[in-house]
Amino acid sequence: MISDYVDSHFHFIEMQKRNPNAVNDLQSAFQAGLSAALEIGTDHLHMKERCILKKNIPGIYLSFGFSPHWVTQPDWETTARTELAGWAQDERIHALGETGLDFYWNYGTSEEQQKLFLLHLQAALEFNLPVIIHSRNADKLLTSMLGEFRGKIRGVLHCFGSDKQAAEKILDLGLFISFAGNITYNNAQNLCDALQAVPLARLLVETDAPFLSPVPFRGTPNHPNLITNTYDFIAKQKKIAIQDLIDQVRDNFFTMLDKSPGVL
Ligand SMILES: [Zn+2]
Repeated sequence: MISDYVDSHFHFIEMQKRNPNAVNDLQSAFQAGLSAALEIGTDHLHMKERCILKKNIPGIYLSFGFSPHWVTQPDWETTARTELAGWAQDERIHALGETGLDFYWNYGTSEEQQKLFLLHLQAALEFNLPVIIHSRNADKLLTSMLGEFRGKIRGVLHCFGSDKQAAEKILDLGLFISFAGNITYNNAQNLCDALQAVPLARLLVETDAPFLSPVPFRGTPNHPNLITNTYDFIAKQKKIAIQDLIDQVRDNFFTMLDKSPGVL
């Protein structure tokens, strides 16, 4: 029996749209061995429900931020600046994001996406919070922007979807790398190769629920309790015992979230 696993990235609001029993299912996941999970924001519009969830389920942590899609909204910059400054100082918030660059969907212009990402990086620096980073078709620009903050901010590149060279650049910036259920798909050799380049001390695991369910649940809505399949797959790839992997990832997760002064 494995226990005390963490899910470093899931979306409650999106889960709830697909499953009216999302709260009960989360409670059962905690009874079944989940010990902590970071619930990820993509805008400021659902903070009330998200804070209630955190209050009701110990072990839920919250991030606050705007994903790249936000640049398509009217007055996006003013809202992002104001809300980020406010929520970053709220004791219920443990991370900023998800934020980053997405040139697959090409929201707004590249300059707009960069400006929104930069607001998060600056707030992370100012308020000593980790950043949850999203990158799609944007490796080069993303690493060059993060280079300006090397050694000054901490965080994770979530749902890693690139190759070994890109992983090495992210590690060189001092960030964690998180793998999701898509590493279990049979066309994911590039992700398995990248995984081998990631030291255990820099590794996180996530569901990105309700998206990207691991094999054999691919194609059905994802849930934090399906994360054990991804842990199992990664432990086999890394040739270590699943509980050792779980314990290491939990340590990494809390190292990243640590808000104590002086912790990078
Ligand atoms: Zn996400």
